[in-house]
Amino acid sequence: MHFPDNVTRLCGKKRFSFACHPKVPCFTECCRELELALTPYDVICLCKELQMSSAEFIERYAVVEQDEREGVPNVYLGMVDDGRASCPFISANGCKVYESRPGACRAYPVGRGATLDAHGNVCEMHVLVREEHCQGFSEPHSHNVTEWFENQGLIEYNAINDEVLGLLHHEKIRQGRCLTKDEKDTFILALYQLDEFRKMVSSPVFYEKYMLSKEERRSALADDLNLLRFAIRWLQEFLFTEKV
Ligand code: SF4
Ligand code: SF4
Repeated sequence: MHFPDNVTRLCGKKRFSFACHPKVPCFTECCRELELALTPYDVICLCKELQMSSAEFIERYAVVEQDEREGVPNVYLGMVDDGRASCPFISANGCKVYESRPGACRAYPVGRGATLDAHGNVCEMHVLVREEHCQGFSEPHSHNVTEWFENQGLIEYNAINDEVLGLLHHEKIRQGRCLTKDEKDTFILALYQLDEFRKMVSSPVFYEKYMLSKEERRSALADDLNLLRFAIRWLQEFLFTEKV
C-alpha cells in the first residue's frame, strides 16, 4: 500500500517518540481544519460529558453526510466558522471535553484502520502521521502502538467501535449495496440518536413487531452501551435480512 510521505506504517512493537502537553509550542494547533469522523461511542461519551441529549448533540455539533454513492452515512464533528475552522471544543487551555474526547483525537498521531476478515475477525493496521505543525515528535517519550493506545484510554473505544464493523463492512455493503435514504436515516437514528431510539424500542408497536421479550427489552434499555449493542444487532436484521 502506498502512503503519502508523512505517513508511515507502524508494525508490531515499532516505537515512536511523541508527547503532547500544554507546553508544546504548537499546543491546540491540531484542533483545527479537521475532518473528524465520530463513532456512535464517541457521541455517547460526548453527550454524557456535555449533559446533552444525543438529538441535541447531533443538531448542534455534528455534520451528517449522506452521499448516495456511499453505502452508509458518515458523521463528522462540525468545525466552527471562525476563519480557522476550529473544533467547537477547543479553548486556550486545551480541549474542553478532554476526558471524553473522540477516539480519533486520542489516537493521534496514530491512525488505526480496522476491517473484518472472511471469518469476522478484526484486522488492524496502524500508521504514524507526521504533520508539519506537530512538534510532539521532538519529545523524548517513546511508545509502541499498544502502549500509546493504553495511555490514551483507547482500548475500550476501539473494542466498542469494532462492534460496529459488522454493519460498516457488511458483505452486502462491500459488494456495493448503498442504503436507501430511509435506511440511512434509520442507521443514524439507531446508532447516533440513542435517546430517540430508546423511545422507539420502548414503544409497544416496536417490541411487538420485533417480538422482543420483556428480558430483551430490559437488557437493551438498561444503559446507553447496551442500547447501542442492541441497535447494532437490530440494524443487522433490519438492513440486511431479506424480508419474506
Ligand atoms: S475534541 Fe478536543 S482534542 Fe479533539 S479536536 Fe476538539 S478540542 Fe481537539
Ligand atoms: S500539534 Fe501535535 S504536539 Fe501540538 S498540540 Fe497537536 S498533537 Fe500536540
